[in-house]
Amino acid sequence: MGRNGHVVWQPADLEEAWELGSTYGPDACYVSGGTWLRIQWEAGNIPRPRHLVRLDLIPGLYGVAEAQDSGAGGGGMRIGAMMPVAACMKDPRLVQDVPLLGRACSRIAAPAVREFATLGGNIATAGDVVPALLALRAGVEWFDGDTVLSEPLEDWLQKRSSRQAEPHRILVSVVVPRLARDADVFYVKLTRRETFVPSVVTVAGQVVLSRDGCVQEVLLSAGGATTPPLRLRRAEECLCGRPLSTAGVEEVYTAVRDEFVPNPADPFASPAYCREAAANLIAAELLKIWKKHEGGVPGETRS
Ligand SMILES: Cc1cc2nc3c(=O)[nH]c(=O)nc-3n(C[C@H](O)[C@H](O)[C@H](O)COP(=O)(O)OP(=O)(O)OC[C@H]3O[C@@H](n4cnc5c(N)ncnc54)[C@H](O)[C@@H]3O)c2cc1C
Repeated sequence: MGRNGHVVWQPADLEEAWELGSTYGPDACYVSGGTWLRIQWEAGNIPRPRHLVRLDLIPGLYGVAEAQDSGAGGGGMRIGAMMPVAACMKDPRLVQDVPLLGRACSRIAAPAVREFATLGGNIATAGDVVPALLALRAGVEWFDGDTVLSEPLEDWLQKRSSRQAEPHRILVSVVVPRLARDADVFYVKLTRRETFVPSVVTVAGQVVLSRDGCVQEVLLSAGGATTPPLRLRRAEECLCGRPLSTAGVEEVYTAVRDEFVPNPADPFASPAYCREAAANLIAAELLKIWKKHEGGVPGETRS
């Protein structure tokens, strides 16, 4: 029993944790690093439930391993949900194969918080790693009380927005497909100060150009501290299959302004400002990629 009359459960495996989560329902919550929860409780944004179900003693939620099938038609990396955000920035395999993830993690909170904050907790709260993971076409794996199910992160975000996501499922891991050797990636978090502040707008993207300079693949995403991240499908369509050009980037700029709908309740930045910022940030990053390849062989270097 905790000091405030709450019960702290320490399940040793996923089955036990899920059983507790589903038995106590809204009167329970899973706790990974507890950094997000603590802030919400202290601010009175959400009630502190009576049953706290710790996930940190479950061995299956840790580690980084090669994934044979990433769900995107090739291999990739499977990262345990309990992986601390700080560890995502240091793990040599992730630094090598998923550098965008480390870049996103380095923009979360401050070093001390990043030691406790987990990747799973960040995904579950649609935090700052999510735009990066969307741009990498990541998948998520959930324990549903019976088995581990996989789905694209994008699908889960859509269910979450429409309140159709299963409440007691436990995020086990995230699977990130291996980047094409010639992919260009970007991640930009716009804030009111350099560190320790929530995102006004966060954008991320992946662009793969073919040898003739046409856009073979493009993934664009945007979100913010109060705006759930999403893939910008209409903006992507402006580029796909066409040569990367300033005219194409201008179309993307307009499409992002139409497609990205920021939360009007954000107390610090108006929706018009956030839309403009997202469109400008994405256009600027695409122009950098265009400039890098202008006249050269696409994909000789990776950003
Ligand atoms: C000072 C400070 C600054 C911060 N700055 C940022 C920032 O810049 N960007 C940002 O994105 N976040 C920020 N955060 C929020 C938070 O630290 C991160 O989002 C963190 O990654 C959350 O992970 P956690 O393990 O602490 O989650 P927890 O607090 O343990 O859990 C968060 C939520 O996710 C659920 N959950 C956790 N793990 C799982 C799982 N495996 N399966 C299902 N549900 C799960 C919990 O039930 C809870 O609802 C900040 C927090 C603090 C205290």
